[in-house]
Amino acid sequence: MNEYDSLRVQRMLGLQGYLPTSDLNAADVIFLNTCSVREKAEQKVHSFLGRLRRVKARNPQLKIIVAGCVAQQLGKKLLERFDYLDVVLGTRGVNSVAELLEQAQNENRRIAHLPDQEDEAGRQQLFQQSPSIECDVVAPVTIMQGCNNFCTYCIVPHVRGRERSRPVDEIIREIQLLAAGGAREILLLGQNVNSYGKGLDEKTSFVDLLHRIENETGISRLRFTTSHPKDLSNELIACFADMSILCKYLHLPVQSGSDRILRRMNRGYAASRYRERIDKLRQFCPEVGLSSDVMVGFPGETEEEFEDTMQLLDDIQFDNLFSFRYSDRPYAASSGFPDKVTDEVKARRLAELQGLQAAITLRKNQNEVGSVRKVLVEGPSRNGEGQITGRTQQNRIVNFTAPKQLFGQIVRVKIVAAFTHSLKGELVSEFS
Ligand code: SAH
Ligand code: SF4
Repeated sequence: MNEYDSLRVQRMLGLQGYLPTSDLNAADVIFLNTCSVREKAEQKVHSFLGRLRRVKARNPQLKIIVAGCVAQQLGKKLLERFDYLDVVLGTRGVNSVAELLEQAQNENRRIAHLPDQEDEAGRQQLFQQSPSIECDVVAPVTIMQGCNNFCTYCIVPHVRGRERSRPVDEIIREIQLLAAGGAREILLLGQNVNSYGKGLDEKTSFVDLLHRIENETGISRLRFTTSHPKDLSNELIACFADMSILCKYLHLPVQSGSDRILRRMNRGYAASRYRERIDKLRQFCPEVGLSSDVMVGFPGETEEEFEDTMQLLDDIQFDNLFSFRYSDRPYAASSGFPDKVTDEVKARRLAELQGLQAAITLRKNQNEVGSVRKVLVEGPSRNGEGQITGRTQQNRIVNFTAPKQLFGQIVRVKIVAAFTHSLKGELVSEFS
């Protein structure tokens, strides 16, 4: 989601004539988008901001803008703590970036802008001025902001506010412009995309949105994240069998395999319900790729409850997993829960869990060897050596040797080798 906001800022500043650079010392403006969902992410922000002191000292004309969750959380305090910052933008203030940058430059002011409602002006401008939006082969599109779920460990509802869905027509228009700018695959983003549509004038569900995208945008592939297990409807599950553009892949965070912990997390489902949803999905779409988020060391998590999570991973056999140590976050209810698990125990549990998942992921990747998969070519591979890279519908990365002209094409690739994070392939045909 932050990546999407950063791309939008890049486009809004692009309309003012700014070009992107990766060289901090060459920049006229540095825009830092921040995340505070886990403690580690927030620590990274503080150390990066510290590094910028020297950059600013070398170039006093430089303007530094900080946006995202840490900006929302700390507001003016950030300006006080880092006296060389120029603009702090709250999570609902990003659309005003160009205007505020101009004020900071012309009036030499330091500004903290944290509106309660989304700023509209800059957003409208983006759509009016361009016949297309230049983008990568895979383009993210945020369809909703905020979250109403209040999982007890989570800072998001507190810094991103209540759930707000973007109007369907605006999303469709944006995807059409992205398609015109080169996108073949769209990744729809939101904290809980399944509940998309609440509060809109027009009665629309997430499934309605998916169908409109299929019918009206000319996009070849569609993915979405994040889904909440409690809101995963049968209608949505059926889409994985029925919709040709929908990639056969779902990211469905489970967080824990223990019912007591899930209750204390306020997740709104039991482990048995989660398993039932996965069974149903696999019934409709046996080849679906699955990934999840889990957390270890939630306050009060016993060894037995941790084992419940391990058992769930072993039973479900996710293709991929994102796993985290629990950390206390400001405003999150669980920060006040007793029985905190020690760092040592959290580290041990995380290592055990990651060991189990690494073996599962590798084995599932090895099962791919010998098959032929449709791959959307995204660009040059990090491996170098003239290789290009793309993804299967199941979100597996495939590296293979082929000409650059294939960027943006869906091609057939035979899988010849498997690793934990990627597959190696051979081009079979340029036409899928
Ligand atoms: N809206 C999504 C994801 C939110 S944040 C969802 O409902 O799943 C992404 C992941 O960060 C979460 O799924 C969770 O596993 C992890 N996370 C969030 N808060 C955390 C915390 N306080 N400590 C550790 N991990 C956390
Ligand atoms: Fe946080 Fe829960 Fe909302 Fe996800 S669903 S953003 S974890 S409160």
